[in-house]
Amino acid sequence: MASLQDPLGPVVGAKAAKRLAAALDLRTVGELLRHYPRRYENRGELTDLASLRDGEDVTVQAEIASVSVRKMRNRPGTILEAVVTDGRGRLSLTFFGRGRQDWREKVLQPGVRGLFAGQVSTFQGKRQLSHPDYELLGSGAAMIRAAEYAAELIPVYPATKDITSWQIADSVRMALDLLDVDDDPLPPAIRDRHGLIGLADALRGIHRPADHHDAERAKKRLKWDEAFVLQVILAQRRRAAIAFSATPRRQRPDGLLAEFDRRLPFELTVGQELAGATIADELALDHPMHRLLQGEVGSGKTVIAVRAMLQVVDGGGQAVLLAPTEVLAQQHYRSIGALLGPLAQAGQLGGADQATRLALLTGSLGAAARRKALLDAASGSAGIVIGTHALLQENVQFAELGLVVIDEQHRFGVEQRDALREKAGDGRPHVLVMTATPIPRTVAMTVFGDLEVSTLTELPAGRQAISTHVVPAAERPRYLERTWQRVTEEVAKGRQVYAVCPRIGGDEPAGPGAGPGHNGGAGRGRPDDDAAGLGTGDGQQPGGPEEDEARRPPLAVLDLAAELAPGPLADVRLAVLHGRLPPDEKDRVMLAFAGGSVDVLVTTTVVEVGVDVPNATTMVIMDADRFGVSQLHQLRGRVGRGSHEGLCLLVTEAEAGSQARQRLDAVAATLDGFKLSRLDLEQRREGDVLGAAQAGRKSSLKLLTLLADEDLIGLARRAATDLVDADPALADHRGLAAAVGALLEQQQAEFLEKA
Ligand code: ADP
Ligand code: MG
Repeated sequence: MASLQDPLGPVVGAKAAKRLAAALDLRTVGELLRHYPRRYENRGELTDLASLRDGEDVTVQAEIASVSVRKMRNRPGTILEAVVTDGRGRLSLTFFGRGRQDWREKVLQPGVRGLFAGQVSTFQGKRQLSHPDYELLGSGAAMIRAAEYAAELIPVYPATKDITSWQIADSVRMALDLLDVDDDPLPPAIRDRHGLIGLADALRGIHRPADHHDAERAKKRLKWDEAFVLQVILAQRRRAAIAFSATPRRQRPDGLLAEFDRRLPFELTVGQELAGATIADELALDHPMHRLLQGEVGSGKTVIAVRAMLQVVDGGGQAVLLAPTEVLAQQHYRSIGALLGPLAQAGQLGGADQATRLALLTGSLGAAARRKALLDAASGSAGIVIGTHALLQENVQFAELGLVVIDEQHRFGVEQRDALREKAGDGRPHVLVMTATPIPRTVAMTVFGDLEVSTLTELPAGRQAISTHVVPAAERPRYLERTWQRVTEEVAKGRQVYAVCPRIGGDEPAGPGAGPGHNGGAGRGRPDDDAAGLGTGDGQQPGGPEEDEARRPPLAVLDLAAELAPGPLADVRLAVLHGRLPPDEKDRVMLAFAGGSVDVLVTTTVVEVGVDVPNATTMVIMDADRFGVSQLHQLRGRVGRGSHEGLCLLVTEAEAGSQARQRLDAVAATLDGFKLSRLDLEQRREGDVLGAAQAGRKSSLKLLTLLADEDLIGLARRAATDLVDADPALADHRGLAAAVGALLEQQQAEFLEKA
């Protein structure tokens, strides 16, 4: 008998165990049995050979059509070529031999069917597998095995060049024969309620299904494991967080918040009202709020944050607002200052009676300004402190930190959240996280599972329409000319324009893709530092690997500016902004643009999130196919924020009909950020989605897909929450406790590996 924790050696034999460890990093029975088949072949049904792609590692079922042997020209030895067929297409299998290959010729007989595994390549126009592994069906071991399974479905495993699908299948069979599961991680009550089979049955069912129905039942059960164990961990985390105490910050009828609401020049949207009310209630509790506020660019999250901060100040605490970049911190400082007016001018002429003060703390402050900001924070005279990572440093202290607001969560890790929390002294501060990358609910529940979620689904009234067009620069060079004309026209009307490039350019080290492109031959460099984050993923964007190789480096800000300034945009005031500029220079440029003394800003994605210049109406995105869908949507949200309609032009050289073009067409076709974020997620691997927050090389999610399994995840979350409420330490659930422990250990190991 073997349990899931047992090492593989004694179960599958030392040689196979070694190979599984080396090729696939599988070391225990459980790890092997969770290496699930990628798909199933119907026994006897041939693989569609036309669907194979170069470079793929494949296992195909096919019939041998012909075999020939010829002498090699330049060396001694022979080449045996077997042509296999699926009835329509053909595939060559080539074997090189030092001598004659009689023995091989004898078994590879026309008419014989088999499984063939190898990497697909094309040689002299013919699709081939060079030196494939094979196992013939209807003979020897395969025959015995087929009878033994009495199954129609042959599992096809993710394999590598060092191990074949059927070698894996052999080891799996041995492990299943000895398998003994005594502690099912899913409690019987939950299995009953949701119609789930036991773990051992499920593992047998997924590896050796009698039919597809069998495999589906197994899959459903195993998906539950993945969702449930993760949700149990998250439920425990939420519970632990609630166990901390926090100082309640209640609303006051005569406070700053009440005064702010009275002065607010617009009405809150229904969504803002609702989210605001939830937050207000949670701030008044004696344990810390942990809430994620998500909403489209421009949906008005900042106002909600300001109201929360004022409530905390009214309640005797301080609030910090952590922004991902210097530009955004400064902008928040200015715009919140403007929004609060006299309410933030304590001690100044014209300041309101109960007024507080704002402080700004960023890395680029001069020594004197920095000292003053630190003092304002430590003494408590600044009720609201706004800043960047600089806020996380040890010498930053607060008199009474009550609320941490984190803008654009995806740029900060959990550790940074914790670093800030610790500045609150005894109790813990309330935490509000804001993100403009709309995330489907299940992803939010999984990636940000220890946070409660509020969502703003509408934009404030009066927001301008934005029209988006794809500009096919390769097919229609005229359209690109027209683009710059259009920019000039906008400027003539007194409007402003962003032109965004994926890269900075200049002295970046030349990358492998370097070459004399029309942008001056600068190398392909890393995207702008400020541009990293969920929804970015540039460079790993969809688009086959073959597409990637031959690509020229993406267009660079410095090159584009150099081309436009003396040429198409000679008559406008142009400035350049990117993450490599010194911080004060960045601030100067951004201020100049915000103030209207710059017409066209050629920039990287530093303008991505949160930047607000209402007079900017046009956004030109160069090499738009190099950006992620969500990121394009966020960039587009920079325009149409004032009283004029927005225009977004997606310039691309991607061919019509290509995947890249389809993504751009999708962005042009809708302004619905949730729709686009789903599209974005569908095109990424699940692990990448989780990777942003969970950092997992070996994702624990193998079968579960966050988008397709929404219902299941919701059910698992509810079941997990109930169970953890009833049995927080999992004392009565040994199998579950073991599974939870194993997952935590894996996450921990990966975290350490990373650090
Ligand atoms: P985001 O969610 O992108 O952070 P902001 O909070 O920056 O959005 O809001 C964008 C703009 O809309 C700001 O100028 C803000 O003052 C304004 N705004 C916010 N809420 C409303 C509302 N209910 N009605 C009208 N304008 C609003
Ligand atoms: Mg914002």
